[in-house]
Order: sequence, then C-alpha cells, then structure tokens
Amino acid sequence: MSKSLSILGSTGSIGRQALEVARFGDYKVKALTANANVELLEKQIREFRPETAAAADEKAAADLTVRVADTSTKILSGIEGVCECAAMQADTVLNSVVGIAGLLPTLSAIGAGNRLALANKESLVTGGELVMSSAKKNGVEILPVDSEHCAVFQSLAGCNDKKQIKRLILTASGGPFFGKTAKELETVTKEQALKHPNWEMGEKITIDSATMMNKGLELTEARWLFDVPADKIDILIHRQSVVHSLVEFVDGSVVAQLGVPDMRLPIQYALTYPDRAQSPVKQLKLEDYGSLTFEAPDYDTFIGINLCKKACAMGGLYSALVNGANEQANLLFRQGRIRFLQIGEAVQYTLENINPCQPGGVEEIFETDRIARQAVNDYFRIETEQ
Ligand code: MG
Repeated sequence: MSKSLSILGSTGSIGRQALEVARFGDYKVKALTANANVELLEKQIREFRPETAAAADEKAAADLTVRVADTSTKILSGIEGVCECAAMQADTVLNSVVGIAGLLPTLSAIGAGNRLALANKESLVTGGELVMSSAKKNGVEILPVDSEHCAVFQSLAGCNDKKQIKRLILTASGGPFFGKTAKELETVTKEQALKHPNWEMGEKITIDSATMMNKGLELTEARWLFDVPADKIDILIHRQSVVHSLVEFVDGSVVAQLGVPDMRLPIQYALTYPDRAQSPVKQLKLEDYGSLTFEAPDYDTFIGINLCKKACAMGGLYSALVNGANEQANLLFRQGRIRFLQIGEAVQYTLENINPCQPGGVEEIFETDRIARQAVNDYFRIETEQ
C-alpha cells in the first residue's frame, strides 16, 4: 500500500520537488497547502487529488474554492486551514513553509502525532525548545529535510551516546559572494545575490545564503535537532556542495554523507527513513569533480553566523529575535529598500539592543518576532505597514 503524505508549502521550491518525489515513489498525497499561488496549487490538486488543500491567504482560498469546485478536494483557508491540513492523519507531514509562518503548522503536525519531515528551519530557530519538547511528549519523530541536517542525521546512525560526539561540522557553499570583501559587498544588487552557484531555491533562502545568515540559522536548527550545544557546531566552506555535512567523534573518526546537490535526496530520505529506495537523483561520480575543497568561513565579513551563535548562547528567545530581524531585513533588501550589508547590520543592532519576551511559549515567540521586525523598521526609519 502506498504511503500517505501531506505537503505544507507545496508551491515553493521544496514543495514542488517533494511532489516530484511523491510522483516517483507513488505516494498518496493527503493534503496540500500554499500561501497564495492558486494557479500552481490548482494544477497540483488536479494531478494529485488530495482530500484537502488550503491557501493561507484568504482571498486566494476563495479564488481556489471556485477554481476546483468540480473536484472532490475540500478547500480550507488561513493559517487555521494550513494547521488543519498539518493535523490530518498522514504517514508523513512535510513542512516547507517559509519563515516563522511554519511554526504553528509544525506544532499542529506534532500535536496530532504525525511524523514530521521538517524543511522549515525557522520552526526550530524560533521555537526550538517548544517544538522539541512537544515532539518528545507526543512521541513524534522529526526528520530533517535541510541537506546539512539530513547529512548529520545519517552520519549519526549507530551513535547511541551523545557524549561520543566531538563536534558537528556543517558545510556551506559560501553562496554567490564567497571570497568578496566587505568593501566589494557594499554595492551588490539583489539580482547578483539571487544567483546561487549550486542550489535552486526560493528567494528568501537564497538571500540568506548570500549573507550566510542561512548557515547561522542552520547552526541553531542543528543545536535543537541534535541537542548539541552551539559551541560544538562548526562551519566549513565547501564550494562544490557534495559533502553535505560531517560528524567528528571523540575517537577522531569523522563520518560524512555525500551526494550530488539535489534536494530531492534529503526529501526522499525523510519519507523512506529508516529504509532507502531508488530515487530520481543523479548518481554521484567523484571523478567528475576531481577535487573537493574546504576552507574556513570569513566570519568578519559574513557576520550572520556568529550573531546566530551568540543568540544560541544567550538562550531564551534570542534566536527568535535574530530570526525576526533577519526575515524583515531580508524582505527590505528584496524590496530594494536597504543595501546588502545592512541586512547583517540590522540583525546585529536588534540582537544587541532589544530584549525578547519571556518565557518561550507560542505567544511570546510571535510577540518577539513582531518586536524584532519593528526594531529593524525603526532602525531604517521605515513606517510599519500592517
Ligand atoms: Mg541547508
């Protein structure tokens, strides 16, 4: 019998690739959700015939209801609709929503006892403690879809005692601006920042890769996912994106996972785990690469990594604060309202001058996010548009 799968954020880059995996592996698609891209969501509904679909945007949901009136798919709306889809019983729920908007659906999937394939790193960055404790309480497995975390997860197979881990090493491609000085980065444009050398991704994460804030967020994600303190997680620049991450053990052994840079591999592994299956992914031929290179990151130019590390060490909701500031600054850059280097500058300002809410419940997380976005707007003297 084919396994069932719900995809939250199905019209985004990860969502579309997850549907390719579902098509290849003959999965039964239970639910699909998107924000506002009804044109693509309609196409997906007609091909995969899910029981339920949701659009977070209310207007888009109304439009979608009319578009697919001739199908048997039930249409829901708003974040409540997305959460309802997350809570429908399925073998796996894949959450590939972008940003903190993914937090409530993550909690809904876990609350319903669904196995969670997590591509939404912001769920763990903003609500790491809450999400992990809720998963534990509900006996839910969280399977990482981020390529680095999937690699760490695979490299940790057979390790039953965390004390045996010396450090996690997350690899980073370095993005489009690797090797550039702060001076050279002063004038880079959005178009240049959106040209990632190895990965095809959505706009938000591609900008995060260019600032390397993505690696800082991934470090935070790894801290929660594997319960390893941030000071035992290192970053290594690896331009070819073939070694997806490594684990160093106390005996000096280093275990890594390799593969071609193709997100369908970590997506499929999260769905088949603990088994493996044939996949549509191209075979890795190391001879085609010849050599693989590794070097230390330039922490002074790409300040995002250390800001995230610092937020982890400060504890509480400081990581949620950093995430909110980054989401807002990333958006302002994509809107052409601030310069590239001002993204990191705004995140640093927020971390150093603003306090997050306490304790770390859902309400406090969203309030902290709002405070962080406001702080970034104030920093640039931008009127807040609600
Ligand atoms: Mg990644």
